[in-house]
Amino acid sequence: MDHVSKAKRSQIMAAVASKDTSLELKVRRLIHSMGYRYRLHRKELPGTPDLVFAGRRKVIFIHGCFWHRHVGCKYATTPKTRIRFWQNKFDANVQRDVRTRRQLNRLGWQVLTVWQCDLKKMDRLVTRLERFLSDS
Ligand SMILES: [Zn+2]
Repeated sequence: MDHVSKAKRSQIMAAVASKDTSLELKVRRLIHSMGYRYRLHRKELPGTPDLVFAGRRKVIFIHGCFWHRHVGCKYATTPKTRIRFWQNKFDANVQRDVRTRRQLNRLGWQVLTVWQCDLKKMDRLVTRLERFLSDS
């Protein structure tokens, strides 16, 4: 089921250990180190997905928990001031994400969202990515 070996796993960990990289870069490095190749930000697809696996017809979005309102996540906090302003912004983001996913699905693309907090549980993330990317 999970065919990422122990050695491979530590190699993967090392690839993402460095601290000063952005969320997206960390996920890109991780997936690259798992041996998958992708294209970036294909504008011709709805929502300009972060990573596109054209041959597999799969895309990955990498989302910050705050901006994209990860449900039930401790990072999806709501600021105490200008609540209405923030709520409108958040609602627009969430609606856009739902719409984008629907459009991609309709075009035959499978969609996976990687959340910022997923990087805290690297083992689980690797398993999830492997499962998503390997099965057709
Ligand atoms: Zn989260």
